[in-house]
Amino acid sequence: MKTDEFRKYGHELIDWLADYRETLEDYSVMSETQPGDIRNMLPSTPPKDSETMNQVIVDLKRIIMPGVTHWNHPSFFAYFPSNAGLTSVLADIVSTGLGVQGMNWQTSPAATELEETVLDWLRQMVGLPSNFVGALQDTASTATLVALLSARERCTNHSQNRGGLQAETMPLVVYASQESHSSIEKAALLAGFGRENLRLIETDEKQALYLDALQLAIEADLAAGKKPCALVAAIGTTNTTACDPLQGMAELAQQYGLWLHVDAAMAGNAMILPECRWMWAGIEASDSLLFNPHKWLGVAFDCTAYYVRDSQHLIRVMSTNPSYLQTEVDGQIKNFRDWGIQLGRRFRALKLWFLIREQGVSGLQNRLRRDLANARWLALQIDATPNWERVAPVDLQTVCVRHIPDKSWNQTQMNAHNLAWIEKINKSGKAYLTPSLLKGKRIARISIGAETTESVHVELLWKLMQQVTES
Ligand code: PLP
Repeated sequence: MKTDEFRKYGHELIDWLADYRETLEDYSVMSETQPGDIRNMLPSTPPKDSETMNQVIVDLKRIIMPGVTHWNHPSFFAYFPSNAGLTSVLADIVSTGLGVQGMNWQTSPAATELEETVLDWLRQMVGLPSNFVGALQDTASTATLVALLSARERCTNHSQNRGGLQAETMPLVVYASQESHSSIEKAALLAGFGRENLRLIETDEKQALYLDALQLAIEADLAAGKKPCALVAAIGTTNTTACDPLQGMAELAQQYGLWLHVDAAMAGNAMILPECRWMWAGIEASDSLLFNPHKWLGVAFDCTAYYVRDSQHLIRVMSTNPSYLQTEVDGQIKNFRDWGIQLGRRFRALKLWFLIREQGVSGLQNRLRRDLANARWLALQIDATPNWERVAPVDLQTVCVRHIPDKSWNQTQMNAHNLAWIEKINKSGKAYLTPSLLKGKRIARISIGAETTESVHVELLWKLMQQVTES
């Protein structure tokens, strides 16, 4: 593509995206396509000859758009928000347009130095002590894998330089709560711990890890000749945003010499609000932690902030140093290729930089406070209305609820009823919620926090919930 065409179609697509954002409310939140619909409209072989950009754009609208679920829709209440703030969209375009690959400092010094700077800004924004140093990762799943690999290597005094985990005599054990995200299990399996050495500890009535059960599990493993290695605390679980007892877990980590990793994928964003920091009291004792600015904060996917206390250890675990990657400034600078799994790295810091500057910390704080207030409002309505049950505390922006039309129903009937009304809402296209299970009970997770969601949208959702459960 020549630059004059790039300019023309770039303007056209930006206009189209701006129109899309202005008319988001007209779309069905959840895509209405059926499995295979999109695939069937796409040619099964690549075009032999060149096509015009006009044809591509026509097909973008005709084929692709019907298969898009609208995460930035004001009535998107599913999963966790994945806000793609327009400022960060522009930064992403710039990053891709510059074609920067920031594996080493020398391959684009600005990518490295901006990443160092914005991660330190973020550190200050969430109130972490200055001995925490960060690097961007793509997702929380990757960051947790990095954390568990680091834990494994500390626990085995760098077994990677010998026979690896296969040569260890004592099996290493990882602990997390039953409510921890599936990425913890995945990382533990990928890091070679094995399912038999992953303990998912039971949770209390607030869905937070039971400290006593954790200690019993550690003691039982020691007695069985196993080696407790890592502890993962969830600050803001996926189901209900419950917070594990971090302070107590930090004490156990200290007592038994465990690596303490904190998964604050969603809730970490709320730490820009001083009034929310009680949720991760004790964070300064963690060895590693992550949160996702690509969730609530407004940075377009993907962008995970990963912080460690001992960056030298991380570098030792992650670095490779072939001659073709060495540069004459090594030793004076950071080479972020040594701070994670991937070698090549996008210029993700630009998205954070644009967003934080354009919104200011106070702008971001105001939006998050708006969402917290909306969640509290919805919780109040649910609490005050017969036949509705709020099944978890609302400390953040997620409200978990179920409808109980008849108390004599058994759990199977109740679960079927709740799944039915949630699906009715989702299929209506008017809002999108996540059906989930909490200790066997079918619940609706209502996750408030799309950038466009105002109180009126939450009020509409509440009306809709009442309508679909009346019939
Ligand atoms: N941890 C928690 C608590 C989550 O809620 C999620 C996703 O929602 C993840 C980890 C995984 O996030 P990612 O998609 O960035 O890997």
